[in-house]
Amino acid sequence: MKTVPLVDLSEQLKRLSPELEASISAVLERGDFIQGQALQRFEENFSRYVGCRSTVGVNSGTDALRLSLLALGVAPGDEVILPVNTFFATGAAVSSVGARPVFVDVDKSDANLDCSQLEAAITARTRAVIGVHLFGRLCDTDAISEVCRRRGLAFIEDAAQAHGASRGGRRAGAFGDAAAFSFYPGKNLGACGDGGAVTTDDPDLADRLFKLRNFGQQEKHHHELLGLNSRLDTIQAALLDVKLRYLDEWTQARRSLAAAYARGLSGLEGVEVLTRPDNEQSVFHLFVIRVPERDRVLTALNESGIGAQVHYPLPLHRQPAFAYLDYPEGAFPVAEQLSRDILSLPLYPELSEVDQEHVMVTLTRILNERS
Ligand SMILES: *Cc1c(COP(=O)(O)O)cnc(C)c1O
Repeated sequence: MKTVPLVDLSEQLKRLSPELEASISAVLERGDFIQGQALQRFEENFSRYVGCRSTVGVNSGTDALRLSLLALGVAPGDEVILPVNTFFATGAAVSSVGARPVFVDVDKSDANLDCSQLEAAITARTRAVIGVHLFGRLCDTDAISEVCRRRGLAFIEDAAQAHGASRGGRRAGAFGDAAAFSFYPGKNLGACGDGGAVTTDDPDLADRLFKLRNFGQQEKHHHELLGLNSRLDTIQAALLDVKLRYLDEWTQARRSLAAAYARGLSGLEGVEVLTRPDNEQSVFHLFVIRVPERDRVLTALNESGIGAQVHYPLPLHRQPAFAYLDYPEGAFPVAEQLSRDILSLPLYPELSEVDQEHVMVTLTRILNERS
């Protein structure tokens, strides 16, 4: 049986292996494994790519969120607003600094934060809003920035799925007070292991972040802040610096594939494309559709060798870990409906036309077998 996985990095790694191996060898020769030359070089190059003043490499996207919250002074008793439909880590980062996650429902057209409900969620304890650029598509950064400015709140971007996504010539990571990126291997820019970064234009915030990731010290054994050990390994930074050169090319490939999906699926009854390809700014981390009888379709796709998955099957308020927040079922009707309807189709820059066609033919056959 022909199989098409959701993500397959093998071809990309094969193609880049001479360059990747050379970059690792250079680090091995220098031996500067912690906060070495290649880390600084990658941070400079990533800042240039994003269009921000500073990049602070950290050990994961989760820590990028966590350290951003700490650097902004978010503390126990504070509230942080975020969309209820996102990866678990967005909410867990808030809980991890002792603050309370406050969820807001999402817009059904793109699954991002519904900004019309943002102000109603603000209380006297609110300190920050995390806007997630879900599936590679920017959230409404204008609306969130405006509310945050007017209400004196920090705006943190969760850009873990959106490296290179842009609006009006400005890229993800350059809209908020701070932005968190993940370099988990399957992200649009992925390391060969865990990694993350915070980007910011604020020099004081950057200074605190550089300390927070390294035991709160600038000078060795002089600990000004209660920092952590959360550095981006020099080897991972060296690998990321190589891959960054290919990111725009990969984004183009993702956009072409997304456009082909949208064309190919446009005639299918009941199928709705969530990540619209006419949106030039999306970097299509995932290609998400709504389908009738989602559970049946998903099972049949998987049984036919298509690696479709659901992002995400449970909105955060339905996750057992967040039961302590006491949100009832039905509190976020749009996110709950989406979680029952959506599925993500295979999408990665090296996905071949033949394999993509196979995905669409298989999906069409399954939809026609409708009960
Ligand atoms: C991947 C991801 C994270 C967490 O990043 P890690 O590097 O895996 O810790 C956070 N938020 C979103 C939206 C993500 O997709």
